[in-house]
Amino acid sequence: MKKLTTVSLKLILWLSLSIAATTQSAFAQDSALGLSAGSIEHAISLRDTAMQGSMAYDIVESLTTEVGPRLAGTEAEARARDWAVAKLSALGFENVRVEPFTIPGWERGTESAELLAPYPQPLSLTTLGGSVATPDAGIEADVVFFPTLTDLEAAAAGSLNGKIAFVSHAMQKTQNGSSYGFHGRLRRSGASIAASKGAIAILIRSIGTDSHRMPHTGSMRYDPEVKKIPAAALSNPDADQLERIHARGKTMRVSLNVQPTFTGESTTGNVIVDIRGTEAPEEVVIIGGHLDSWDLGTGAIDDGAGVAIATAAAKLILDNGRRPKRSIRLILWGAEEVGLLGGFAYLERHKKDLENQIIGTESDFGAGKIWQLNSQVSEEAQPLVNKMAELLAPIGIAPGSSDSPGAGPDLTPLVRAGMPSLRLNQDGNDYFDLHHTADDTLDKINPHDLDQNVAAFAVFAWLAADTDLRFKTD
Ligand code: ZN
Ligand code: ZN
Repeated sequence: MKKLTTVSLKLILWLSLSIAATTQSAFAQDSALGLSAGSIEHAISLRDTAMQGSMAYDIVESLTTEVGPRLAGTEAEARARDWAVAKLSALGFENVRVEPFTIPGWERGTESAELLAPYPQPLSLTTLGGSVATPDAGIEADVVFFPTLTDLEAAAAGSLNGKIAFVSHAMQKTQNGSSYGFHGRLRRSGASIAASKGAIAILIRSIGTDSHRMPHTGSMRYDPEVKKIPAAALSNPDADQLERIHARGKTMRVSLNVQPTFTGESTTGNVIVDIRGTEAPEEVVIIGGHLDSWDLGTGAIDDGAGVAIATAAAKLILDNGRRPKRSIRLILWGAEEVGLLGGFAYLERHKKDLENQIIGTESDFGAGKIWQLNSQVSEEAQPLVNKMAELLAPIGIAPGSSDSPGAGPDLTPLVRAGMPSLRLNQDGNDYFDLHHTADDTLDKINPHDLDQNVAAFAVFAWLAADTDLRFKTD
C-alpha cells in the first residue's frame, strides 16, 4: 500500500512537471511568434467554440429577411447600413460608425426581349449594371453570333452596323473561381467592343455556371471614347437556345427593351467598428464582407454570408474576454458590386494612415467551406501564418501559396497600396450557379459551413492582431 502511494505521488509529480513543461513550451511558442502568453491556446479555443456553432447564420438570416436586396446607392442599401449599425450595437460593439461617400446611382427598370424570327418566343434576360436604356419603344435588329469575346474582337469595324451582337462564351466551374476573371471581361467590356464595330446593343451569355433560367447581372463599364449601347445577359438555357438556332443557319431577329435609369449622385457608406487593441490600438487588422448586393436576389451568398462570417468572428473574439495587442477592425463595405467603391473610398480617407493598416482579409466568395489559405507577408511574419495554417488544418484548410497577394475585392485598393494580405479561399464550385441571380437567397446557405468560416476568420484575426510581428516587408 505504502509502495503504491509512493508510486502514485511520483506519477502525480511527474505529470505536474510535464504539464508545466508543456505549458512553458507552449508559451515559448507564443513569444517566438510575438504573441502574448497563452495566445495560441486562445486561438484554438476560439476555433473550437466557433465549430460548435457560431451566430453567423442568424446574422445572414436577419440581413436577408429584414432588409432583402440592397443595391448600392439606393434606399435599400441605406436600410442595410441602419440594420448594420443597430445589429452591431445590439451585439455589444462600441462606437459603430458609418463613413459615407457618394457614387453615381443606377437602378434597373423593366427589361424584356423576344426572339421575333425565325422561331418567335420570349427570352429570359437581365440588364447589366451600369447599362444605358434602349429607346422607350425598344429596339429591333438582326443578331450576329460570336462564340467568344475573342471572335467579337476580331470582327471588322462597321461589320455590326445596326445589329445586335450576341456573345455566347460559356464559363466553366472551378474550385477557386478562377474562370470568373477571364469570362468576366465579356460582361465588363463587351458593350464597348461591340459598339466599336457598329452594334446597337449586346447580349451576352450569363457569366454563370448554372443551367437554370436565371440570368446573371453584374457591373459593366463603357469606354468613354465609344458610343454607349444597352447590354444585357441571357440565362444559360436561353443562350443555348440561340446557339441551336444559329447552328440551323437561320438569321435571328430580336426585340429588346431595357429601361434602367441613372439616378445621379447617391449616398452610400462603409460601416466600421473596432475591437480596441491593448498595446497598439492605432494598428488595425481588417476583416469584413460587403453590405450591398445586386437587386435580383436577397444577396445571401453575395455577400450576406461574408457580412455574417466576419461579424460572427469579431463577436466571438469580443465575447471571449481577452483583448489583442492591435485593434481588429470589422468593415461592412458599401458599393462593392458597382466597382469596389467602398474599398476606394476607404483608401482615400485612410491613405495618410496606410502604415497602420497592418493586414486584412474579406469574405466575399459565398458560403462554402474554406479549403485553402493563401498569403503574402514578410519573412518575419511567415512563421505566424504557418502557425495559422497548422491550427486550421484540422478543420479542412490546406496551406496554399505564400506568394499570393489578394485579400478579397474591397481590400484590393489597400493591397495595391502595399498592405500585406491573406486570403481564406472558399470552395467556389457552386458559387457561380447563384452569383448575381434572383436565386441568391438564404435557403442556399448551410449554417455549419458558415461556422467553419467563422472559426478560420477568428483564428486569423486574433493571431494577426495579437502579435508584434510586422507583416509588411520594409
Ligand atoms: Zn461580392
Ligand atoms: Zn457580386
